[in-house]
Amino acid sequence: MTEKIYYSDGYVKEFSAVVVDCIEGKDCFYIELDKTAFYPEGGGQPGDIGFINNIEIFDTHEKNDRVLHYSKQKIEKGTKVKCSINWERRFDFMQQHTGEHIVSGVIHSIFGFNNVGFHMNNDSVVIDIDGPLSDSDLEKVEDVSNNAVFDNIIVKCEFFDKNTLENIEYRSKKKIEGDIRIVSIENYDICACCGVHTKTTGEIGIIKIISSQNYKGGTRITMLCGKRALLDYRKKNRDIYKMSEMFSAKVENVSLYAENTLKNLENEKSINFGLYIDILKNRASNFDNNKFIIDFCDIENSDLIRRYCTMLSEKCSMCCVFSGDDKKGYKYVVYGKDIDMKIFAKEMNTALCGKGGGKNPMIQGSVSEKRENIENFFEKYK
Ligand SMILES: [Zn+2]
Repeated sequence: MTEKIYYSDGYVKEFSAVVVDCIEGKDCFYIELDKTAFYPEGGGQPGDIGFINNIEIFDTHEKNDRVLHYSKQKIEKGTKVKCSINWERRFDFMQQHTGEHIVSGVIHSIFGFNNVGFHMNNDSVVIDIDGPLSDSDLEKVEDVSNNAVFDNIIVKCEFFDKNTLENIEYRSKKKIEGDIRIVSIENYDICACCGVHTKTTGEIGIIKIISSQNYKGGTRITMLCGKRALLDYRKKNRDIYKMSEMFSAKVENVSLYAENTLKNLENEKSINFGLYIDILKNRASNFDNNKFIIDFCDIENSDLIRRYCTMLSEKCSMCCVFSGDDKKGYKYVVYGKDIDMKIFAKEMNTALCGKGGGKNPMIQGSVSEKRENIENFFEKYK
């Protein structure tokens, strides 16, 4: 059984120990020490990384009370070693984890909902709550949670036996046997947890709920604490100032400007569409009534290509519009009054390396052939 320094003092970054075992696994070695400050994965918190005698430890797990440090290199049993954990990463997890306790505790005390899932990695912290929470509910949760930070409360971690626990009301995700480790933040949360936490709530820094979504009838919350929240704020602040410059608008008006710009853009689009229809009507009027019409043009919008083909179809029994060029290929719409267009589509796609189809009397798709070959293919329909 490994002596767990991370429980007696969660702030030990460097320590000396003795290797009691080094097991060769499939892809790596599992190093066991007599004592360790490396936190093994558990309670939603990832395992620590760091170094044992300059040998990299890339993960830590606990199996049957033995803490195993994952390494690509072997260390002989009995070796005295100097160990250091990646403290920046570990402290970040402690901030996120302790913040998660507060948010879950506050939600439980205000709304009576439970935390039923907690996932934390290098990028995100996600909590699943078993009840619906509106945006204003979450703002309230955020305010109260940050009050817990400002109050700078001591985070107590204590082991209790079953009898003592009968008189304590605490949050717990699963039934646990034996002594239970209780993490309490006075006035805000009491929870059974095996993780490592900050000593005081002030060390968490800001607690920010980033987003929420309905999830299995409850709410999935993404949140950030401490430096992660600062980095997120920095990036978003930079982005919004950039947008303010782009729109020549005050920072506080940026979203209004963006909304208006989008509306104007939609208006412009519909005006442009109308103008394009006029241009195409004019273009179609240049064709005389005929058995067969083919036209090559450069129209991006598939809906317009289709409309143009419909205009031409009033003048012939078969017409085709190809839009594009030899390099990028052509979008097509083909109309045929007197033939089975399904069969025709197969024939044309095979001959012109194309794809697409439709039903009588119109098909559409794209081909990747040169204009010359397309025109040759249609010779027999003229
Ligand atoms: Zn915890």
